[in-house]
Amino acid sequence: MNTASIKYYSTNGRSPVVSFREATIRGQAPDKGLYFPDRVPQLSVEFLAKLKSMSKAEIAFEVIKPYVAGEIADAELFRICEETVAFDFPLKKINGRISSLELFHGPTLAFKDVGARFMSRCLGQFSKQQSQKVTVLVATSGDTGSAVANGFLGVEGVDVVILYPSGKVSKVQELQLTTLGQNITALEVKGTFDDCQAMVKQAFADSDLTDKMFLTSANSINVARWLPQQFYYFYALQQWEGDEAPVISVPSGNFGNVCAGLLAHVSGLPTSQFVVACNENDVFSGYLNTSSFHPKAAVATISNAMDVGNPSNFVRILELFQHDHERIKRLISSYSINDAVTAETIAEVYKKHNYLLDPHGAVAYRALDFYLDEYPKRRGFILETAHPVKFSDVVEMITGQEIAIPESIRGLLSQEKKSQVINAEYGDLKEYLVGMP
Ligand SMILES: *Cc1c(COP(=O)(O)O)cnc(C)c1O
Repeated sequence: MNTASIKYYSTNGRSPVVSFREATIRGQAPDKGLYFPDRVPQLSVEFLAKLKSMSKAEIAFEVIKPYVAGEIADAELFRICEETVAFDFPLKKINGRISSLELFHGPTLAFKDVGARFMSRCLGQFSKQQSQKVTVLVATSGDTGSAVANGFLGVEGVDVVILYPSGKVSKVQELQLTTLGQNITALEVKGTFDDCQAMVKQAFADSDLTDKMFLTSANSINVARWLPQQFYYFYALQQWEGDEAPVISVPSGNFGNVCAGLLAHVSGLPTSQFVVACNENDVFSGYLNTSSFHPKAAVATISNAMDVGNPSNFVRILELFQHDHERIKRLISSYSINDAVTAETIAEVYKKHNYLLDPHGAVAYRALDFYLDEYPKRRGFILETAHPVKFSDVVEMITGQEIAIPESIRGLLSQEKKSQVINAEYGDLKEYLVGMP
């Protein structure tokens, strides 16, 4: 076995190879490529044999340790793993052939909690070795901002500034962003999500600003957010019953989630097929059919966290399989599900199986259902990436039933929103950042 420490290279190949620490602090490589591990560690036979009896933290630690390559001391890394996965990941049977891996039991009720919690704690460790305070700057259309804010709350040496478009996030999402306080600031931008993103990009490109402060991003291409998303594929396999490996259906937008599952597969986790479930933004099926990839402008759907026309982690899938289109096509199937069918699926699964899907989970369910119609001997599970209450407007309209508010966010609804309103102008953002204590 190759025991040399894993290093990270840029998928564009024009930046130096870096350590886990450096890749986490930088986020994206200077040549605008994505960092990728220079080898994929292989799980041992012993590890797989004892998987079912290991704790969640033990699994997380074993899986992530080679990627961190000693940059965080073992005891500290174990503690980070424990904190990252300190909630449930139940695999629930919906019917005889489809189960649901519920990834919404974390603090902000979406799977992004896992990556955000792990990354924030790593950055907290690394910032201790930094003389300067680290400022995380992030633009959000909803789920990312809340997971990042929550993950970084109270992390010493790190300030978080979140930009969100005024009036364009759901009520639950806005409260999750604006009620935390401490080291988290929410800037309510009088503009769109694209404005927010453009302002953040301008800040990173402004050397006058970056000379004064240490800025980093917490978006999903960061390796410290991407890699820990492997953990719950192992938790699903722990709970999987039956001798045949499962088919796994992943509702996909930027492809970080599915790419983490594929990485676990390449490491030796026993899975069969992967289904990339997309809404009407379906550039991946085009790639599978033609072997060439054509990004498109995103269109708006009811599964809006997947409204991505140019998925940033697509290049990591190519990298993982050395651009071998045949191999990718054998392992991965893809289906595109439109809003009407998504809504129908929510209604049908609720009525027939008494299971409430959110719109993203519904896309995954329908895609897996199509796949299993073609391969009726197989069974599988979906990744249910968010709690339906996060999309209650849509879901309640479809089922005609009010969704019970989960205990964990009931307190949130009575709290007061605290945001700072700014114009959609870079000057306003800069003025705020420069004035920070
Ligand atoms: C972010 C998100 C997705 C898409 O995940 P990717 O890793 O970007 O493919 C799916 N569902 C929900 C609820 C999300 O918040």
